[in-house]
Amino acid sequence: MPIHLLPNELVSQIAAGEVVERPASVVKELVENALDAGATDIRIEVMQGGRKLIRVGDNGAGIPAAEVELAFTRHATSKIATTSDLSRINTLGFRGEALASIAAVAHVTCVTRARGEDVGTQLRVGGGPSYDAERKGIGVPPGTLITVEDLFHSVPARLKFLKADATERRHIDGLVTRYALAYPAVRFRLTHDGRTTFETSGNGKLIDVLIAAYGLQVAQEMLPVEAKPEGSDRPLEVIAVSGYVSSPSLSRANRNDLTLFVNGRWVQDRNLTYAVVQAYHSMLMVGRYPLCFLRVDVPPEEVDVNVHPAKAEVRFRNPDEVFRAVQRAVRTVLVEHSPVQRIDPKGLGDYSDLTAWPTPGDASRLERLRALGTDIPTAPQPVQMSMPTSYTEPHKESQSAVPDLPQSPIPGPQLPAMRVLGQIGTTYIVAEGPEGMYLIDQHAAHERVLYEKFMAERQRHSLAIQNLLEPHPVEVPIESAELLTEHLDVLAGIGLTLEPFGGTTFLLRSVPAVVAREDPQSVVNDIVAEIDAGDAPMEASEEARLILRVCKRAAIKAGQTLAMAEMQELIRQLEVCASPRTCPHGRPTMIHLSADQLAREFGRK
Ligand code: ADP
Ligand code: MG
Repeated sequence: MPIHLLPNELVSQIAAGEVVERPASVVKELVENALDAGATDIRIEVMQGGRKLIRVGDNGAGIPAAEVELAFTRHATSKIATTSDLSRINTLGFRGEALASIAAVAHVTCVTRARGEDVGTQLRVGGGPSYDAERKGIGVPPGTLITVEDLFHSVPARLKFLKADATERRHIDGLVTRYALAYPAVRFRLTHDGRTTFETSGNGKLIDVLIAAYGLQVAQEMLPVEAKPEGSDRPLEVIAVSGYVSSPSLSRANRNDLTLFVNGRWVQDRNLTYAVVQAYHSMLMVGRYPLCFLRVDVPPEEVDVNVHPAKAEVRFRNPDEVFRAVQRAVRTVLVEHSPVQRIDPKGLGDYSDLTAWPTPGDASRLERLRALGTDIPTAPQPVQMSMPTSYTEPHKESQSAVPDLPQSPIPGPQLPAMRVLGQIGTTYIVAEGPEGMYLIDQHAAHERVLYEKFMAERQRHSLAIQNLLEPHPVEVPIESAELLTEHLDVLAGIGLTLEPFGGTTFLLRSVPAVVAREDPQSVVNDIVAEIDAGDAPMEASEEARLILRVCKRAAIKAGQTLAMAEMQELIRQLEVCASPRTCPHGRPTMIHLSADQLAREFGRK
């Protein structure tokens, strides 16, 4: 075939492919236009998953009668005029492509009336290069109503790729709920085949939208994030991060519920998502993901939104600063709020008595612990551990602490002082605290203690290492030898020094002190298994996973009988951990039965 120019119609359809991928993309473009037009009320009507009809109505500024045709012309926009405008975009649209693209692949009817004009305009377009536009004057209230019918009727290839109606509906639901979350002051209503499935009031309260989007149960487990710009002269300190993140007790098997908006624009940015997931490091089990709805606001000139046709990606001028701001904001909230896992006999959430927890700032407790020579961790840094020797009367201490605990709405990260009562099934420690009874998993708790100690030592560059008097030969499976060799540097960094000794043999020269008393071959077996399993360094850094594995090996096992003094020491160390309530894999270290719950269970209340 000789080279030839493509006909206009085909050019439009190809271009439309970038913007309009599926019904949800149409909804996205129309909702964004309504928001740009300053609408406070947006109605979205969908039939058959959007393949038959999508209609978006708004009470925004409307399109002036003289400009309606132009609105459907490619590269026609009212939002930017010059190149310099491109670097400070404060509207969602700016490419002038959406309406033209939609009209290239569907039948579109636009009914609109600009504020300040007496009559509205109805325009039918779609189906061909000239759009066979058909217009008339019409009496309507100000605002815009755009109806998109028979999507992809002219592009059978696209039509074939559409999924079942239910799937397309789900995409639309996801989109509308996200925009509703980003714009709580705008009223959204979504109907599918005549049934209202989602509605917000537009009262401006984000928590109300969260409840509408996720339900009360989930919304109750979401923690507010509010990191305001600090008064610093560094330009990027003006990054504001706000919204909600899930408490570690709530998680999902995928990343779908990690929603981030940058300057009011929904973005799918791997790095930002990763920043949030990282903030949960060691609080969630591997393979579990948090939920979040976060708005990141930066000055418009700090972000380039013109990198993706559907504007789903952005580029930051200083990505690391944004990454850190997001991670810090989330981490701070998590460390402040993480509540103890509690026994709930009826399986119903009851959050009322969380208020009884002492705050990290509880002066009497701080003083008590300081007097005992224990460093109080300042969240969110890992804790520096020390072993108090003078702490001999835990019973008395914890009891005398009860009356002066202030009532606070925020559950503190640290534990109250606890009195050990005994051990159950050589696996759990029973303890009493000011707020009732605690059952502590001895293995999980010790893992947490060792992990924080390890991390703190490493941060101070004072990791305790045991050099072996004689290098100890260890064997690894043949298929793992090469991968292990690639990891020798990382391992040396955590105190495990191995040297290749030909074939499947390695010489072990040093181990982290925590596992000094373990069988060296078992330690290496663990490490090899961990390296072999590692396919997702995205979730936790490789090194962190290796450290976790070492701590797991070193920790007290379930089934081990513990002396009273050993249990007391373990609980003492757990009390000063930064995240005492979960093991580093994210499982709970303890469950709590409050005095209140006990009373209720025994019918005393
Ligand atoms: P863009 O949003 O990138 O400018 P569009 O093709 O989406 O491009 O829209 C073209 C123009 O039509 C917009 O710039 C705006 O002036 C006008 N427009 C589209 N939708 C609406 C609406 N709902 N209310 C008011 N004006 C609208
Ligand atoms: Mg637009």
